[in-house]
Amino acid sequence: MQKLLIVLLFVSFITTFAFGKNVNAEVDAAATRILPKVIEWRRHLHQYPELSNRETKTAKYVEDHLRRLGLEVRTGIAKTGVVGILKGALPGATVGLRADMDGLPVTERNSLPYASKEKAEYNGQTVGVMHACGHDTHVAMLLGAAEVLSGMKNKIRGTVVFIFQPAEEGAPDGEEGGAQLMVKEGVMDNPKIDAIFGIHINSQTEIGKIKYKSGAMMAAADWFTIRVKGRQTHGAYPWSGVDPVAASAQIINGLQMIVSRQSELTKAPVVITVGKIQGGVRENIIPEELVMAGTIRTLDDAMQKDVHARVKQTAEKIAESMGATATVEIVTKTLVTYNSPELVRQMLPSLEKSVGKGNLMETEWVTGAEDFSYYRLKAPAFFFQVGGMPAGKAPKDAAPHHTPDFIIDDSRLDVGVKAFANLVLDFKLNANTAASSSVVDFADFSGKQISIENCREPNVYESPLQAFKFSSLVKEDLTARLCGKS
Ligand SMILES: [Zn+2]
Ligand SMILES: [Zn+2]
Repeated sequence: MQKLLIVLLFVSFITTFAFGKNVNAEVDAAATRILPKVIEWRRHLHQYPELSNRETKTAKYVEDHLRRLGLEVRTGIAKTGVVGILKGALPGATVGLRADMDGLPVTERNSLPYASKEKAEYNGQTVGVMHACGHDTHVAMLLGAAEVLSGMKNKIRGTVVFIFQPAEEGAPDGEEGGAQLMVKEGVMDNPKIDAIFGIHINSQTEIGKIKYKSGAMMAAADWFTIRVKGRQTHGAYPWSGVDPVAASAQIINGLQMIVSRQSELTKAPVVITVGKIQGGVRENIIPEELVMAGTIRTLDDAMQKDVHARVKQTAEKIAESMGATATVEIVTKTLVTYNSPELVRQMLPSLEKSVGKGNLMETEWVTGAEDFSYYRLKAPAFFFQVGGMPAGKAPKDAAPHHTPDFIIDDSRLDVGVKAFANLVLDFKLNANTAASSSVVDFADFSGKQISIENCREPNVYESPLQAFKFSSLVKEDLTARLCGKS
């Protein structure tokens, strides 16, 4: 009996192994075969970029493609978002794959035959439009993966949700958009996605390479405004009023003290930048008010909350010490892009297969931000970089993202196609993975942060200034979803 069991186990191991190897080889061949098409799609999208929340032609292009493949297609999600659903022949988990679709208000300076000449209105200004962040390549790679996987339906365990998301770069003033709105409109819920993957091309990473980081990878981005109010007076008699300019100078220094003296920098980096100051009209008038604005970058949820409290305290107390008042407003643009360590551990072999041994490497923390971070509120997530810089070029000579000279070598977009497809075919849901996403209550993000480790009691995150409690409702919901209990 025991022998029989061992034989059965051995057979099942061999079938799994052989199955795994075959499907990955099939992905390899298919991705290589369709690479010329993927490049063609990418160049078309590059030539006709659209701004955030205005991606109508791009959405139609995606929709037509997905319909041709016979997928169930949903449109108009979070304004112009498109979702394709592919049901595999075998039972299994639901995997989400995400590409963002928007271009930027940047005028392209490249002399490529498919360079963008598009123009559009942006916050009341006429601007050039360019895929200056490479989202055209993301759409093309995901369309490629949809084509490869549609041809392998019989070998797919579970369901694949292809998510084409608008407005990653931020919606125009006064509009909602992006991943946050996609999540709000239920893109992760029906069907319920068990794990989600996203790619970003990188103009300063060599083609044929993938870079990743377990845990926090990209920063949470907050925008802040500090309004410092004094009392207007003659520039020659400062004692007769309250000077908001001098107070602001002290506040700016105070903000850097949060970084250098109050943040646990060995745990994760913190950046505070004041990017804008407005106040005053003339040399000899001390103005009534001054407004400054800037951004905060953190790579840890608890540190993010801690820095918020300290920015508020620093500005208010410094202003008060000088007889002025400061009011602070902080708006969270994106969360920390947090890669579930368990999911990363489980899926690294799939990425290695896709890119080849020696071409998968860890990256440093990135203080840039991604709205992909919002999907992890609903499921474990894994976001990684794919190289787009020509081989042999030095990163310092490659134009950064968001600039007019930004350029991507698209000759190895098959890497992304393979990665997407292999992740789908190899993913298996397990309790550890499900439980490792550092899940935050989406409905009430401020104040509650919890994670469940191996389905034991949720942990409470604490920071020196605040302790965050979870609601019993969230706890029950998560325990049920992640651990299969009710
Ligand atoms: Zn960007
Ligand atoms: Zn981007």
